[in-house]
Amino acid sequence: MNDILLLKLGEIVLKGMNRRSFEQKLVANVRRRLQDLGNFRVSCLQSTVYVEPEDDSSDMDAAFRAVQDIFGIVGISRAAACEKDKDAIVRLAVDYLRPDMLRAKSFKVESKRSDKRFPMTSIQLSQYVGGELAEAYPDCAVDVHHPELTVNIEVRDLAAYVHADQVPGAGGMPVGSGGIAVSLLSGGIDSPVSSYMIAKRGVRLIPVHFFSFPYTSQQAKEKVIELGGILTRYCGAMTLEVVPFTHIQEEIREKCPEEFFTLIMRRFMMRIADRIAGRCGAKAIVTGENLGQVASQTMEAMTVTRAVTPLPVLQPLIGMDKEEIVRFARRIGTFDTSILPYEDCCTVFTPRHPKTHPHLDEVERAERALNVEALVAEALEGIEKIPL
Ligand code: ATP
Ligand code: MG
Repeated sequence: MNDILLLKLGEIVLKGMNRRSFEQKLVANVRRRLQDLGNFRVSCLQSTVYVEPEDDSSDMDAAFRAVQDIFGIVGISRAAACEKDKDAIVRLAVDYLRPDMLRAKSFKVESKRSDKRFPMTSIQLSQYVGGELAEAYPDCAVDVHHPELTVNIEVRDLAAYVHADQVPGAGGMPVGSGGIAVSLLSGGIDSPVSSYMIAKRGVRLIPVHFFSFPYTSQQAKEKVIELGGILTRYCGAMTLEVVPFTHIQEEIREKCPEEFFTLIMRRFMMRIADRIAGRCGAKAIVTGENLGQVASQTMEAMTVTRAVTPLPVLQPLIGMDKEEIVRFARRIGTFDTSILPYEDCCTVFTPRHPKTHPHLDEVERAERALNVEALVAEALEGIEKIPL
């Protein structure tokens, strides 16, 4: 019970007036993320979030891993606690930091004292602990300018804490601090990465998947649910909206010129995403589109696709190479699921010669064969909501 996590806040420190609400979002996100791992006290003080276990049921190893995925945190330290007494602090530092002190060639001590009743100033405490550590570890020299290791001491309300290096956090901003967006989630490699990138900027996501049963299988849907589940690690709890897309695709195949199949299909996706956004207060649509990767990803095709919604379409992968996206997907843990071999609705009825440089008016003309509004309404009606 003497272990604690210190989470250092990132960019949100710069946000001036909004800072408090950002901190509250982050604290709420940390609490939610840790709720299945035991009882923790989570509080925020001086740009640091403190995670303290409240009893022995709290899994600190799991908590330490979990907080590394939460946006809004740039660094995480695992610290040990002791009573607020200078010699207890020295004993703890000598013991707890042994591996670090043996590894490093030089060190310095930095102290913070939020409990002003502690009888030494921060500087006095740093000097005292530094002197004792130097004696205990004669091969590690004091260097206050460029130390290899910084030993941190914090004297807080309940206890004193000692810690060494921090591990990097996920960065970004706390999810929920930057509004809501609808994210189009296929089962592919790209859209989980684009979802991650926008969530990292503090945006809460409504994942939407278009499902063409029986042309795409139940397993394809399971795969998207699994991908969404992996993303909750970073994005927090989400509800996947699965939109029945079969009738729309059959109508397009039957009534529109083949060269426009994909474009018209993608315009339906955008219209439906726009409606879902309206219902839930989302202010943007996120896709995994990437310039030049496939026929529907030319500049002209994107113009035609996004013409059906006034919302901004965020395409964070637009200029990345596939290799970079794959590396990213591996890092966030979605790649292995994404490459499971189940069809996406985009590969059903793929035209043999898709129009790569379409004009908006020719696509609109082709669409007149369809009852667009009725098809959109029917799809919205049939949405299945799946908590992730
Ligand atoms: P991904 O790897 O994300 O599937 P992709 O390179 O295969 O992308 P497309 O199939 O052209 O590209 O799709 C572009 C984007 O459209 C996807 O990144 C995703 O945001 C969205 N999208 C495609 N198919 C679906 C679907 N069935 N449900 C929801 N969104 C989809
Ligand atoms: Mg795809």
